[in-house]
Amino acid sequence: MTTPAATGGANMPSEARPSPGGDSTDAAPIPLSVPELGGNEAEYLQECVETEWVSSAGPFVDRFEREFAERLGVDGAVATVNGTAALHLALRVAGVGADDEVIVPALTFIAPANAVRYVGAWPVFVDVEPEHFQLDVEAVRRFLEEACRSTDEGPVHRETGRHVAAVLPVHLLGHPVEMDGLLELAEEHGLAVIEDATQSLGARHRGRPAGTLGDVACFSFNGNKLITTGGGGMLVADREEWRERARYLSTQAKDDPVEYVHREIGHNYRLSNVHAALGCAQLERVDEHVAAKRRIARRYGEAFRGVPGVRPMGEAPWADSVFWLYTILLDDDIAGGSSRPLMEHLRRRDVESRPLWQPLNRSPAHEASRRPCPVAEELARRALSLPCSVGLEADDQRRVIEAVEDFVAGRGTNGAAAARGSAAGEG
Ligand SMILES: *Cc1c(COP(=O)(O)O)cnc(C)c1O
Repeated sequence: MTTPAATGGANMPSEARPSPGGDSTDAAPIPLSVPELGGNEAEYLQECVETEWVSSAGPFVDRFEREFAERLGVDGAVATVNGTAALHLALRVAGVGADDEVIVPALTFIAPANAVRYVGAWPVFVDVEPEHFQLDVEAVRRFLEEACRSTDEGPVHRETGRHVAAVLPVHLLGHPVEMDGLLELAEEHGLAVIEDATQSLGARHRGRPAGTLGDVACFSFNGNKLITTGGGGMLVADREEWRERARYLSTQAKDDPVEYVHREIGHNYRLSNVHAALGCAQLERVDEHVAAKRRIARRYGEAFRGVPGVRPMGEAPWADSVFWLYTILLDDDIAGGSSRPLMEHLRRRDVESRPLWQPLNRSPAHEASRRPCPVAEELARRALSLPCSVGLEADDQRRVIEAVEDFVAGRGTNGAAAARGSAAGEG
């Protein structure tokens, strides 16, 4: 079974999903995370067709940018074809270039590390902290103070001789990174701060929205994100010049709209009016989506607090998490601390779940950037994300909880052998 929902993949509605088979129940499969499109989506799409505004300009694009910026309390926003494109543009406007290095957490979906490579720079993977899985600010400090020497142009990584230009915190799974310490370090070392807030629209750090704390921030509206446009992204930045430059680069860096003169290499990264129409409808319901995610997290939290060996997902005292993808952590005495046997056990009950991402310090795609990040590796082994669609019904959630409880009651011995064979190819 492929489980695309928690990565950058598309989503199928649950009705269209192939049954995972096995000794499944009669009940409908419970997907990991699927979109909720019950608002004005159809009406706005119809309007695009009737007005023939379907391409990469139009009233919904302007409106989506304006309303998104208002919601975050920032001056402006630039819509993009997806979150990865927004990250690419963010790195360019921040001035990150060939042979620079950018600090990226070892535990994240791969998009930010790939975007760093698009500009010819290199990711430096720094470990995450075990409590909330976020970039470990103390580990960033150690890297800057122990592995770098400071120069007039900023820190230089001793081992590679490369200039460290930026830090790219990813607010992972709906929870913000501890930004106070990180912003201080960035200031001290002259690093640009590029926030990847793609998983954390609606989250707050000491009351301030994730995505408004650094120099530039990126959001995603992929099918499984808190709100979706099918595919889409957004870049926000305080500095107007940066937003204007991002907009310019996103439209093939066109300098003369009549003669088609281009002074530099740009991209075709603008969001279409059709996608933005979905975005406007989704944005109207973002508070409901956040409330649903938090309600789901509360129910799981209450249930799992009584289950030995299962650590529910938490929230730092200074954070308002949106619990974008609800993720538990298994102790060593449950199936040896591997989440894959539980994944297999859930699959047999038609409940979709999936581990977190392969830690990037282990990724064959980023072989050149290997360095030890033991916490990320441990979390990737023990963590499992559970169904948490905005529309998840209480009864279905109860089924998920009971399946986890059953597994733990058997100490994970039932599915363990079967899972050992199948887990290798996934994740
Ligand atoms: C979803 C995601 C992105 C980018 O998303 P797109 O699929 O390109 O819209 C970037 N970073 C992280 C951490 C993500 O989860």
